[in-house]
Amino acid sequence: MPQFIQRTELKTFYYTPVHCPFCGVRVMGADPDDETRITACPHTLFIAHDTAFEYRSERFDDTVGLCGMSEDEVETKWRADERGIDGFTDAVRLADAIKVAAYAPEPSAYGSYYGFAPIA
Ligand SMILES: [Zn+2]
Repeated sequence: MPQFIQRTELKTFYYTPVHCPFCGVRVMGADPDDETRITACPHTLFIAHDTAFEYRSERFDDTVGLCGMSEDEVETKWRADERGIDGFTDAVRLADAIKVAAYAPEPSAYGSYYGFAPIA
């Protein structure tokens, strides 16, 4: 079984735009007119924050057993992890997958999570 996804944390420069480590696509804030717009590349597994997934790839759904679930069922599933989406996405097992967790400082303590993996 492949190893767990490898984590990188951004705590000081948490606002740094995140780019895919495999192809260089800027996945968040790529559109100057809408900095919140998401641009998933083929390597993107998920993009999430503490309250919801913004993007999930089929490969991600497959790996963590979300295929065919409704959005409500998906939410019930990740909320069952005591660490929420952060913990749930740490459980991904895909070869050489990388997760970037960006944590805004206290008191907001708001996290953003990006997952990537190479494609064969
Ligand atoms: Zn990519």
